[in-house]
Amino acid sequence: MSEHLPRRTKIVATVGPASWAPETLRALIEAGADVLRLNFSHSDEEKHAEVVRDIRAASLEVGREVAILGDLPGPKLRVGDIPDGVVRLVPGSTVTLVHGEGSGTAERIPIPRAEIIESLDEGAIVYMADGSIRLKVKGPVEDGVEALVEVGGPLSSNKGLNLPGVDTGIEAVSEADLRWIDFSVEQELDLLAVSFVKSAADLAPVTERLESLGSDIPVIAKIEKPEATDQEALDGILEAVGAGIMIARGDLGIEVPIAEVPSLQKRLISQAGEWSKLSITATQMLASMVSAPRPTRAEVTDVATAISDGTDAVMLSEETAVGSNPVDAVRTMDEIARATEPGLPYWEWLLNRTSQHGMDVSESVTQSAVISAYRLDLTSIVVPTASGRTAAVVAAHRPRVPILAVTHSVQTQRRLRVYFGVEPVQHTPTNEIRDLLYECADVAVQFGAAKSGDLVAIVASLSDLGLGTNLFEVHRVP
Ligand code: PEP
Repeated sequence: MSEHLPRRTKIVATVGPASWAPETLRALIEAGADVLRLNFSHSDEEKHAEVVRDIRAASLEVGREVAILGDLPGPKLRVGDIPDGVVRLVPGSTVTLVHGEGSGTAERIPIPRAEIIESLDEGAIVYMADGSIRLKVKGPVEDGVEALVEVGGPLSSNKGLNLPGVDTGIEAVSEADLRWIDFSVEQELDLLAVSFVKSAADLAPVTERLESLGSDIPVIAKIEKPEATDQEALDGILEAVGAGIMIARGDLGIEVPIAEVPSLQKRLISQAGEWSKLSITATQMLASMVSAPRPTRAEVTDVATAISDGTDAVMLSEETAVGSNPVDAVRTMDEIARATEPGLPYWEWLLNRTSQHGMDVSESVTQSAVISAYRLDLTSIVVPTASGRTAAVVAAHRPRVPILAVTHSVQTQRRLRVYFGVEPVQHTPTNEIRDLLYECADVAVQFGAAKSGDLVAIVASLSDLGLGTNLFEVHRVP
């Protein structure tokens, strides 16, 4: 039966000029994209609203609900305008970083936020353009700060700026971010990512805004600042965050020594698991496919490694947003995931993944169900769920068999798309418990995950008892 069952690792594809044509969106969904990401740092509300409409229409045509993830820009620092298009910073030369919107040259680079200039002391390191340019601050001058170009290269308008270890005091969530939150609620987006989170406190303005709008969009904290990897801060983030974390390796690899990214990735994925929260591994996974039709061996290994580390989802950024092979990049991810999944350490995950933060009723009941799936050879775990919470907790234990999340809510179906091993199924479960159990077994048969005589697990929350997930039944399919 298993060869017909779906891929368990989820694929996030970032939408951009290379993929926002309706036919390409359809092709991405057909190729297996589970979540489509809108990067709010690029394009305006009007364009993003059009893309949301087109994704929903494409999803309807393909007959598969996908999630839309909105990604807030956060305090991303950028250089100002370079009117000549590109200037080349020469190693060994001196540049002045000046506050303002003025025109940049190879000697004077405008920095729109005064706080950045004010926070740069002698010896501070400034990275530009995805970390490709490195400056070392010499000290203040009349209209800014002077810096030595240690590693040069081309610089164009609005390129990113990273200041590892420098506290600029810039707010974590700006007015512009709050407007994007309003937009995400209006557009009924399914997941919301928060950039440059340093501690749980940075999530509070987002959750407060969502609450004030009556929204419960699950939030994902992007881990890309060294402060967020401090153990206490990370535990605070994982405890506070609704859905989970994204290992945003692009900025992370500039903000911390690049050689530390692989071990950090392992630690972040594992700790998300400990808190039963999801993890998305992001950036440059198949980078060569931005221009080439096939990935490198190293990239294929990188994707497989993230899956073996226990990530829920792998993400494509430029590959699908601006690359020349967006659909092939999704197909490649799909192939790598399918080839990697049979060898995953499911049993080891079941015993050790979620065990560090105590056991409440939900954790204990769901873990028992997954253990029984092994002992009793259950063919699937069926979860009737309204909010999706029970399915997310079952997923954290990483059963080898499919988790069928049976829900009437289209929103829950979409939100669950990002969780490892969860297959959302549209169905309105009955309230009558005995009938519900038979219905769930029937869903497993219809899905191809059980046949007559097989045993399945049914896991649910009888919500009026306030205990969380408190029901686990082993059911023989009639
Ligand atoms: C990253 O830095 O890895 C990342 C995912 O962020 P963005 O693509 O939004 O810059």
